[in-house]
Amino acid sequence: MAQIRDNAGMSTAHAQHYDIVISGAGMVGLAMAGALADSGLSVALIDPQTPQDSLQSFRDTRTLADFDSRVSALTPASQAFLDRIGAWPLIEDVRVCPYYDMRVWEADGTGAIHFNADELHVPCLGHIVENRLVTAALATVLATKDNTSFLTGKGLTDLEAGPEGDYRILHLTDGTTLSCGLLIGADGARSKVRELVGFRTRNWHYNHHALVCTVNSEAPHQHTAWQRFMTTGPVACLPLFLPGQETQHYSSIVWSCEPAMAAELQAASAPTFATRLAGALEHRLGAFSQVSKLHSFPLHQQHATQYVRNGIALVGDAAHTIHPLAGQGVNLGLADVTCLDRVIRAALARGEPWSCEQVLSRYQRERKPANLGMMLGMEGFKRAFGSNDLLLRWLRNTGLKLADRVSPLKHELVQRAMGIK
Ligand SMILES: Cc1cc2nc3c(=O)[nH]c(=O)nc-3n(C[C@H](O)[C@H](O)[C@H](O)COP(=O)(O)OP(=O)(O)OC[C@H]3O[C@@H](n4cnc5c(N)ncnc54)[C@H](O)[C@@H]3O)c2cc1C
Repeated sequence: MAQIRDNAGMSTAHAQHYDIVISGAGMVGLAMAGALADSGLSVALIDPQTPQDSLQSFRDTRTLADFDSRVSALTPASQAFLDRIGAWPLIEDVRVCPYYDMRVWEADGTGAIHFNADELHVPCLGHIVENRLVTAALATVLATKDNTSFLTGKGLTDLEAGPEGDYRILHLTDGTTLSCGLLIGADGARSKVRELVGFRTRNWHYNHHALVCTVNSEAPHQHTAWQRFMTTGPVACLPLFLPGQETQHYSSIVWSCEPAMAAELQAASAPTFATRLAGALEHRLGAFSQVSKLHSFPLHQQHATQYVRNGIALVGDAAHTIHPLAGQGVNLGLADVTCLDRVIRAALARGEPWSCEQVLSRYQRERKPANLGMMLGMEGFKRAFGSNDLLLRWLRNTGLKLADRVSPLKHELVQRAMGIK
């Protein structure tokens, strides 16, 4: 227990002390807790929200409305990490959709690129998984760990250095306090941790919203991730899997466009939206007979200029948010987790002060350039495909054709997208 003092230095309360507190129990925060679960450190995870799903509720899925409309394309690297911490077998046991092909093409030209797992000598290109299924599996794993406390229904409101300056005092929304040696901010794009410690961000505003929903298509999805680039923005159709079906027809849609167009599409009737969507995908999956409720997310790219300080580290969307067109956001977050876990364990093994800035900087040095590289790549991609400029149109068509034909270039692209490089 750590003693908290008021401004006059009087002892006012005793706070529960943990080696590490993780603020935010989204996919990345839960994964961070899962990674640290057998490190020998005491860990608390806090979040104002409580993950409500039991894994059983996913097994009862029968209809389109039962799927979570938020999904992620997880790379083999993310799959391997989730496997190591025991969550992947639980996810796989419920449902995941491996995809073996990825078809990306351009609306106004003839540019197209096709990735195929056999051609690239990999078992699959990745898996589409519902976000709520990932968090439910991670929460199930954590429930079995003795040194991890999952404190839900309370969030971080304020932060102060401890009297000896070597740990942080955390004030929570329910009026309680905690203290810790290391506070990990995994609290998403609007990170309270980032705000309280005063880390600045660099922002790219896209003026784009992403519409997401689940659909049922006339033609089976063929375990293929489809993505068409239009000058108004990209539309992606990601395959879902429902056990027991002979052919698979459910897919998740991510359609990015300007806010006015997103509002218009959201206000349209389900049949009108289905017709617009089929047209946007050039009828590759035929007509769409069912469309779930549409959700809209404003998009922007954001990068913290600093990830660490003495006793503080940011991971996942708290450190960086990226346009969803490459399906990389949570994959980058899980790569952060893998790296920070490795850095902390190595310091522990060497008897170093594992929560000091000098040690945590090793994490920042590795992950910041990697995240920035992916973000700049996506920014370039988005600009090239969002332009009507004749030269850019010629370049992107030529670039796509070239990348499709030149095998080493194709391998390089796919290895980076799969988190292998
Ligand atoms: C439309 C769309 C499609 C996407 N598709 C993909 C994809 O295919 N592949 C991919 O890799 N990524 C994808 N992403 C990105 C991915 O969803 C995010 O990168 C990922 O969800 C970030 O996870 P996180 O845990 O860092 O943050 P979040 O999911 O935002 O979780 C943050 C958590 O912190 C909690 N919190 C907030 N404030 C506090 C507080 N004060 N105290 C304590 N807790 C707090 C919240 O309740 C929440 O649980 C997509 C994003 C969008 C918008």
